[in-house]
Amino acid sequence: MDLLIPDKVHDESRQGEAFVLEPVGKHNGRKLYIESYGCAMNFSDSEIVASILAEKGFETTSDFNNADVIFINTCSIRENAEVRVRNRLKEFAGAKFRNPGMVIGVLGCMAERLKAKFLEEEKLVDVVVGPDAYRDLPNLIEQVDSGQKAVNVLLSREETYADISPVRLNSNGINAFVSIMRGCDNMCSFCVVPFTRGRERSRDAYSVVAECKDLFDKGYREVTLLGQNVDSYKWSPTQQPSPEGSVLETKADQKVSPAGGDLEGAVNFANLLEMVALVSPELRVRFSTSHPKDITDEVLYTIAKYDNICNYIHLPVQSGNSRILDIMNRTYDREWYMNRIDAIRRIIPNCAISTDIITGFCTETNEEHNDSVTMMDYVKYDFAYMFKYSERPGTLAAKRYEDDIPEEVKQRRLSQIVAKQQEYSFYRMQARIGKIEKVLIEGFSKKSDKDYCGRSDQNAMVIFPVSEAYKPGQYVNVVVERTTSATLIGRIVD
Ligand code: SAM
Ligand code: SF4
Repeated sequence: MDLLIPDKVHDESRQGEAFVLEPVGKHNGRKLYIESYGCAMNFSDSEIVASILAEKGFETTSDFNNADVIFINTCSIRENAEVRVRNRLKEFAGAKFRNPGMVIGVLGCMAERLKAKFLEEEKLVDVVVGPDAYRDLPNLIEQVDSGQKAVNVLLSREETYADISPVRLNSNGINAFVSIMRGCDNMCSFCVVPFTRGRERSRDAYSVVAECKDLFDKGYREVTLLGQNVDSYKWSPTQQPSPEGSVLETKADQKVSPAGGDLEGAVNFANLLEMVALVSPELRVRFSTSHPKDITDEVLYTIAKYDNICNYIHLPVQSGNSRILDIMNRTYDREWYMNRIDAIRRIIPNCAISTDIITGFCTETNEEHNDSVTMMDYVKYDFAYMFKYSERPGTLAAKRYEDDIPEEVKQRRLSQIVAKQQEYSFYRMQARIGKIEKVLIEGFSKKSDKDYCGRSDQNAMVIFPVSEAYKPGQYVNVVVERTTSATLIGRIVD
């Protein structure tokens, strides 16, 4: 089992969550049930899908038994993610038996990986749609209505859905994900993403800023900019003209970036961060994921310059050993990674850092595993996502290297790093006791409506007694009085 320390970008508690939104007026008499698995990008994509279908008059439902269309937005990153989806599909069989006209669709990475084969393997499924083909969904549903099965798994070099204003599903009205790029051009040898999500492409910077501004005007106070490798974001106005009917009404009168930069030139990630930060000092900006080979000092100085860009960086190391990093094709080594950590500590002294670590990658020795452990000692990460290596068909590692580390060794190494991470998470939390944290109130705590919860700048969950004077969406200063290994507990101070 993968062990995770909860965070927003891959939130274990949201896996399989069904999305519902308010009816938008048009109604074609059909109800859509959509649930999502995997990373934040998939959850964000489900909002794009719901937006496309809401335009065609679909309403959403939280009960799949009442649905006319069931969509499951899938993840392929590890084998157990796929097993979970297969099991879930079995649960839809009863509903389809009772309502044979029901359309069942598989979206996302598993759809892309297995393509039409899915239709043979899972007779229940009517439609298979890859991550770049969501605009085609209304046609594909029509095709199924006319008695055929439907597949569109074409990957695109251009599609960024920049002009689609995503509906916000299950939103608290305070934080939102904003996708800034799609796909990935890195070929990490263990990873299926470049095959399921295609080539990297960056979204129109104007459309990103316009979406963030629109969210702010609607009362949202935090955006998380999403991409597989945000540091390689690059967009220029000549490269990708916005499609007709885009949401960018601001474009005509916005020839320069809010940062004052000349948008005739290319916009890199540091520029984009600054443009979004300037939407309002009251809008918090987060981002994920950074790649150690690409994160620049320019990005770090931009984070340091703006109070509303959160002091939190997710910087996946994968392994602390240079030979393993080499065969993982990560294109950096242990020293490079440590240098980037040193740069973060130097430029943003108060920055929280989290990571991803894989244990038991092909040929990893005990000594090499130990280098991951000593890397954890060096960085003392605030959080970590930790995984056993799971071979994915078609990846470079699957072709080149034998998956030769026995399951019990992978598990032992995983348990060791999970225990180590718990120590460091607790250590980081303890260091906050007595400090005052600026917290964006997200709502009531899960356990009690006498307490509010929200995140600190460094992304720690903070719980504190409700005060009538403050509402969700407002910032408060909270003094930290005690902690668990995952939560800060305190009270509001003026
Ligand atoms: N693009 C991000 C990056 O490069 O760090 C993350 C992408 S992936 C969705 C999230 C994490 O899943 C990776 O950082 C890696 O730790 C893990 N992962 C990817 N493929 C894996 C595999 N085959 N087995 C185990 N973990 C894997
Ligand atoms: Fe996968 Fe590497 Fe791309 Fe991340 S950077 S999505 S791990 S190939």
